[in-house]
Amino acid sequence: MTETASPPSAPLRARAEIDLAALRANVRTVRAKASGAAVMAVVKSDAYGHGALRCARAALAAGATWLGTATPEEALALRAAGLRDVRIMCWLWVPGGPWREAIEADLDVSVSGLWALREVVGAARAAGRPARVQLKADTGLGRGGCQPGDWAELVAEALNAEREGLIRITGLWSHFACADEPGHPSVAAQLTGFREMVAHAEGRGVRPEVRHIANSPAALTLPESHFDLVRAGIALYGVSPSPELGTPAELGLRPVMTLSASLALVKHVPGGHGVSYGHHYTTAGDTTLALIPVGYADGVPRQASGAGPVLVGGKWRTAAGRIAMDQFVVDLGGDEPEAGAEAVLFGPGDRGEPTAQDWANAAGTIAYEIVTRIGARVPRVYVDAEADAGADAEADAGAEADADGQDG
Ligand SMILES: *Cc1c(COP(=O)(O)O)cnc(C)c1O
Repeated sequence: MTETASPPSAPLRARAEIDLAALRANVRTVRAKASGAAVMAVVKSDAYGHGALRCARAALAAGATWLGTATPEEALALRAAGLRDVRIMCWLWVPGGPWREAIEADLDVSVSGLWALREVVGAARAAGRPARVQLKADTGLGRGGCQPGDWAELVAEALNAEREGLIRITGLWSHFACADEPGHPSVAAQLTGFREMVAHAEGRGVRPEVRHIANSPAALTLPESHFDLVRAGIALYGVSPSPELGTPAELGLRPVMTLSASLALVKHVPGGHGVSYGHHYTTAGDTTLALIPVGYADGVPRQASGAGPVLVGGKWRTAAGRIAMDQFVVDLGGDEPEAGAEAVLFGPGDRGEPTAQDWANAAGTIAYEIVTRIGARVPRVYVDAEADAGADAEADAGAEADADGQDG
């Protein structure tokens, strides 16, 4: 990902402004709703497109005490960037993964089955130091995790490795299938299954530091799921896990990312003019068209062709015809803003702009996917109203280098 060396007011083609004060406020909201549990800030996939390192630091500053990633490479990159005094867990492993590097970097690694346990034990033996292992239970998601029928064998072999000093079983954990659907019967069933699998492991002598199952929707709405730790991803970025659970504001969250672009062209065209590939849109009469210089290469979903909303000059406009790789067009109905005027694709919504959820609706997907897929070609511009107290936004290379230096 690129970080711009220009202030956010510069006429960049496109930019994703990342509001770190909002992110910290969202961490505090999650902490308040899950008081009694620690908060793991899930920063996988470059913090859902927001920038893993900056978001990890902001989340830690606001009281998160764990970081979570999917892949070991993502976790190792955070350590390499200087985040040393924080627990980092990663859970998506394949055979031959960097177990030894993970052990040497003090990561907590997730194990769902015997092949993984055996690989991590071998790596610990080679490294000459114990691995931190969290055993993952499949309590009903049917994705990762160990099935209840295989749990006793996994726990027994892990305990043997712990007694040999090769691993430390630091956690027992699981993941929900439907925590974003209020009242879904699988939620209670998964909680029961989790309690049983934890009880079995503890009965055999496992002494985990943390037991955890809650993702953002569970952290926000299901206190009985909080245990010792909640793993919050989407909530930190101020996006509602599901419209059914409420808007971000109703959940006490503030969207962190604002995606905007500068109009590349405004021109008059006659009625009956086809617009963009395939001519799926035709102007109804004399009008003005504006060229928005972002496209599906930047993560603007092509599925939202003809539907994606953009705020231009205080009015909602809709992608006219196909969204192309690098650009799309909106019909301004005769309005004549200058080239360079701002087009806001999504943001918190308080300037009247669409939200990531509006784009999700237009594309037939979830808001998670909208923010996460914003591409590397779009510079992230970090703003921090609290830290800067009205001074220039922290987006220049010098400030970035200074901030990096402080982590030691
Ligand atoms: C992505 C992920 C999370 C975070 O989910 P959100 O709904 O974004 O809070 C938590 N746990 C696991 C295992 C994940 O993969």
